[in-house]
Amino acid sequence: MQYRTDLKSGNKLSALGFGCMRFPRNLNQIDISKSEKLILTAIQNGVNYFDTAYVYGGSEDTLGQIIQKNNIREKMYLATKLPFGKCRNYDDFDTLFQTQLQRLHTDYIDYYLIHNLPELKLWENLCKLGIEEWIEKKKEAGQIKQIGFSFHGVHDEFLSLLDAYDWDFCQIQYNYININYQAGMAGLKKASEKGLPVIIMEPLLGGKLANGLPEKAIDLFQSANNTLSPAAWALRWLWNQPEVTVVLSGMSEEEQLKENMGTVENAMPGTLTDNENEVIQSVIDIFNKSYKIPCTGCGYCMPCPQKVNIPGCFTAYNVSYVTGMFSGFQQYATSTRAMDLQENYKASRCIKCGRCEKQCPQHIPITKSLEQVRKRMEPFWLQFALKLYLKLRG
Ligand code: SF4
Ligand code: SF4
Repeated sequence: MQYRTDLKSGNKLSALGFGCMRFPRNLNQIDISKSEKLILTAIQNGVNYFDTAYVYGGSEDTLGQIIQKNNIREKMYLATKLPFGKCRNYDDFDTLFQTQLQRLHTDYIDYYLIHNLPELKLWENLCKLGIEEWIEKKKEAGQIKQIGFSFHGVHDEFLSLLDAYDWDFCQIQYNYININYQAGMAGLKKASEKGLPVIIMEPLLGGKLANGLPEKAIDLFQSANNTLSPAAWALRWLWNQPEVTVVLSGMSEEEQLKENMGTVENAMPGTLTDNENEVIQSVIDIFNKSYKIPCTGCGYCMPCPQKVNIPGCFTAYNVSYVTGMFSGFQQYATSTRAMDLQENYKASRCIKCGRCEKQCPQHIPITKSLEQVRKRMEPFWLQFALKLYLKLRG
């Protein structure tokens, strides 16, 4: 395993971190034995950074059960996050934190983050509730070792937040498509200049850079090096940068874990060649021409009171551009039950209440984008044909 040093604490962190947001599932329930096997294999192979959050349904509980059963707490740096939106007063910080300690079967958190802190104003509100004093007390008690924040806001707010407090680390969305988006490369460098270790989330942009690249982009990668998968290219691009400390990957299959462990082994900073960088630049150009809506499928916008499957709609819409209308329609029909005229999850159900938009870390104008989806994926002639077909079928 390749390790990178967190200069604030001196901890040697595995360059590959385990993102516990996407534990494997079975009939919508987390598959605990499969998750346990993945976590243990990761630890045996040197992964020591594990990231979860209060709001990742069932993730803290699952990880806690695995930690307790296998007695592995001392083999890991554990990261979890405060859902600050639930904090109305000083006591709420502690109530939520104690719940997290109980769920995780631990009495301390190595890396604690304010979850998805988007702007300075909200940090200042937390300061008014006394969060700085609370953090200080938790650190003194040894219950929080390092304090940081995760970020999905706009670049300037990231810089303001970096300067607003003496953080120990930060976590940003970053990949070769998001070089100038959110914190971006400039934010990564700024954080690193301040001596902060930077943890990377969404390295594969919700899986698009692994399984959703246009054919032309896949061909380019393969002709440059047919032993590397698109995911390996994306991860190597990140590890090539010395400012990157840990790259989180939400590994839900053993093959993914093994592949990532193989990739990280040799992906030292500064090892990508000029030719490889040019290939990645060409892939960026192809990707940007193909993808229309930058949804990562995180699901933060769900559930919708009108039952619109928001990420499902956007994925199908994007697929209709990347791989063609037929696959797009197929995917739309499956993810929205478009063939069922009563019980469906289609874009046209949206009543523009705007509730979802406040939750979207990618700042997608969801209602406008759903209108685009409706026009393309539910054209009048298709609705007419569908109604006729259902009538004839009886
Ligand atoms: S704006 Fe539309 S998609 Fe968003 S929550 Fe409201 S009804 Fe659902
Ligand atoms: S629309 Fe935004 S919040 Fe919803 S799944 Fe996509 S990226 Fe996540």
